[in-house]
Amino acid sequence: MKIIMLGAPGAGKGTQAKMIAEKYSIPHVSTGDIFRANIKDQTELGMEAKKYMDQGLLVPDELTVKILLDRVAKDDCKNGYVLDGFPRTIPQAEVLDEAISGNKDGILTDSSDASKPAGSPDTEVGGGIDFAINVDVKDENIVKRMSGRRACLKCGATYHIEHIPPKKEGICDKCGSELVLRDDDKPETVQKRLNVYHEQTQPLIDYYNKKGILKEVDGSQDMKDVFSAIVAILGE
Ligand code: ADP
Ligand code: ADP
Ligand code: ZN
Repeated sequence: MKIIMLGAPGAGKGTQAKMIAEKYSIPHVSTGDIFRANIKDQTELGMEAKKYMDQGLLVPDELTVKILLDRVAKDDCKNGYVLDGFPRTIPQAEVLDEAISGNKDGILTDSSDASKPAGSPDTEVGGGIDFAINVDVKDENIVKRMSGRRACLKCGATYHIEHIPPKKEGICDKCGSELVLRDDDKPETVQKRLNVYHEQTQPLIDYYNKKGILKEVDGSQDMKDVFSAIVAILGE
C-alpha cells in the first residue's frame, strides 16, 4: 500500500504516518526527518537543505526528489510506504508518478529514471499511489500546535507539551534523548511556512482529487479519532 500524507505543517501528518506505518507494517518516509538527520551529521546535503529550512522555505525540488527516490528504491519499500512531507510541489508529485508508474508526463530530472524501482506496478490511476490523505486543520490551530511541538532529533519522535506530552518532561520516551523546539517551529517561521504551504503545496489537494485518490480527514480531532478515520479509509 502506497500512501501520501497531505496537510499543512503541524497538521499531524507525522503523528498519523507513524501510526499507519506501525499498523500496516510499511516504512514511514519523511523527507523532513531525512534532512534533519543529515543536518545533525553535518553532511553536504544537510548543510544545503538547512539554508532553506531555517528560512521556512522549501528545499529545491531537484535535491528533494533525488533523496526521496533513493529512499523509496530501497528494499523495505517494496510492499509500499507512507510518505510524510513529500510531495510538497506539483513538480515533485509529477516526478513521483513518473518514477513509480512509468508514466512519462512528469519527467523533471535525470535522477528519476536512474532510481526507478525495478518491477514497479504499472497502475494508471494515481500513478501507483493508492491513497492521498489530506489531514485538514485550520491555520489558527496550526500556530498553537507548532509552538507546543517538541521533537527528538535522534529518533524522530514528536510530542506536544499539552496534547501529547512525554512521560518525563523534555525527554524522549522512545530513546531517552533530549527534546527540542525545532528552529523552524518558532512563530515567525511558522507563519512563513504556512504561506509557502498555501502557495506551493495546497494545489496538490486538487491534483490528487483529479486522480480520484484524495481522502479528507478532520485533523482537528483528538489524534486517536483522526487515526480511526484513517483506518476507516485504508481498511482494517
Ligand atoms: P512539518 O512536519 O512541520 O511539515 P517537515 O519535517 O515535513 O515539517 O519539513 C521541515 C522542512 O524540511 C520544510 O519546511 C522544508 O524546508 C523541508 N522539506 C521537507 N520536505 C520537503 C519537500 N518535500 N520539499 C521541499 N522541502 C521539504
Ligand atoms: P506534521 O508532521 O504535519 O508537521 P506533527 O505530527 O508533527 O505534524 O504534529 C504537530 C504537533 O501537533 C506535534 O506537537 C504533535 O504532537 C501535535 N499533534 C499531532 N496530532 C495532534 C492532534 N490530533 N491533536 C493535538 N495535537 C496533535
Ligand atoms: Zn527519541
